[in-house]
Amino acid sequence: MNFKMILAIAILLIASLSLFHFTYSGSSSKSLVQSSGKHLEGIDPDEVDWRSKTVEYWESVLLPEQYDVCRLGGTERPFTGEYNKFYEKGVYICSSCGLELFSSDAKFDSGTGWPSFWEPINQNAVELKRDSTFGLIRNEVVCPRCGAHLGHVFNDGPEPTGKRYCINSVCLLFDSGK
Ligand SMILES: [Zn+2]
Repeated sequence: MNFKMILAIAILLIASLSLFHFTYSGSSSKSLVQSSGKHLEGIDPDEVDWRSKTVEYWESVLLPEQYDVCRLGGTERPFTGEYNKFYEKGVYICSSCGLELFSSDAKFDSGTGWPSFWEPINQNAVELKRDSTFGLIRNEVVCPRCGAHLGHVFNDGPEPTGKRYCINSVCLLFDSGK
């Protein structure tokens, strides 16, 4: 094997390695986006009867952490959510059914570790339920279309409403509208 051949093989090897790296990092970030909300792609979510969906359906389309929080009423660990420190312009939709819930215009940094909003995108965008788990009286925030647990609302938010909708990141998907 002469020097030119060794050089050619080395160049080929480097090229294929960098191509592999590019493909690998590209597909991994893509699958992350797709794994949360893939079931909403290519359908008109307004035409689906989300309330009729079974436990098996939700288990199959949601990530385990989404299922725990959105369908079983759990809470994600603070400061871990994708949208906690995220301030791009757009609309937050329900990660279960795609309903528009909150606008980035009403998002603020509450310092609590969860995405916080001072109001929903419209009056009917969320439903409130009285929640007395852990001996605390709180108002649970629920998706009115699919029944997903989203978080809780408190009265210590900023003006103009004084409300703080404390929402789990995993219950949201961000739509930049682009
Ligand atoms: Zn929903």
